[in-house]
Amino acid sequence: MKTETVLTREIDTLANVHWHGREVGEVMKGLIREAIRGGADVLGPQPNTEKSLITATQVLEYVGSAKAYCLPSPDTRLTFLPFVMLTEETTREELVNCKIAGISDGKIYPRLRTTKSANGVRHYGRILPVVRWCGEIGIRVHNHFEHPNMIHGNRDAEYLCLAVAEMFLEETGAVIFWEHASDARCIPAWKYFAGKYPGRFFVTVTAHHLAWNEDQAFGNVRLICKPPLKTERDRLALVQLVCDGHPWVMAGADDAAHDVNAKHVHDGKCACGAFTTPFLHQIYAHALSKLLETAGGTRTYINFTSRNARKIHGLPPASRVIALVNKPFRIPPSCQIGPWTVESAGAGETIDWSMVPEKPAAS
Ligand SMILES: [Zn+2]
Repeated sequence: MKTETVLTREIDTLANVHWHGREVGEVMKGLIREAIRGGADVLGPQPNTEKSLITATQVLEYVGSAKAYCLPSPDTRLTFLPFVMLTEETTREELVNCKIAGISDGKIYPRLRTTKSANGVRHYGRILPVVRWCGEIGIRVHNHFEHPNMIHGNRDAEYLCLAVAEMFLEETGAVIFWEHASDARCIPAWKYFAGKYPGRFFVTVTAHHLAWNEDQAFGNVRLICKPPLKTERDRLALVQLVCDGHPWVMAGADDAAHDVNAKHVHDGKCACGAFTTPFLHQIYAHALSKLLETAGGTRTYINFTSRNARKIHGLPPASRVIALVNKPFRIPPSCQIGPWTVESAGAGETIDWSMVPEKPAAS
């Protein structure tokens, strides 16, 4: 009989620079509670809310309300990284307002490729001046890179954005983030961009793109997301990219909650992120198990899930230490998030890593 060694790893809290907080209120309260439970202390709220966050005032109001009404307690140690939506209509003046207001991150969505992206970009040429201004003013440009022309199928939409990313890097001075990497055909180009434009090109990877593949998503709505999960070959190559320990590769969960009635629709369709919030560290650990087998690998895991993002975004160091242990953990069938019942990616599946419950901080 095989004897398993029990490994316990002490790691940093997660810096989740791609988080969907939805609307301020009971849902957001529940999502923040679950994000803390999943090991995060940094959340980058995405601007594709009901009413897109396209001005500095809207972003400040949203993040201000989140802090005022949705934290579990006034002394909760949580840092928000505010994002403004960049559109073909964004003006230089608005970007200056953002910078003055302390908003240094902008997000470009491809029009109608994903949830609530009606203000997204259709013509990348038209957003080039906006990206250039971001470079001049010091706003990092995060991209949902899937080509907005629906002639390109889901399977190729991300790959076809390599030329767009290269144009942004060549024609502007902006820092470019390639969010939720999914297509391993892009990896050689990402390495080339990161080498040719040091400090200007970054890639984020979700837990679900590292943990599951498109075959497992077949017939499983909890794993349907944008960009869609790709093949096992893609997944393994993404895991390897993370294990290589590049400082320009970091976690970004794209953990998007949907009520079962919105995600499990019988009419129409849903195309959006996957919910991993309450188990985020466990799912990353499960997918990146081989890193946690060694001390050096554990350092790479910590850099990927926490320190790389803190460094580039100038965020405070991790506020808590989390202990992960390689004992089986069963992802519960559903979670109650305010009035919503949300089913996690991998609901009902058993994964390899658990989190040791945290002790309350000594007062
Ligand atoms: Zn997202």
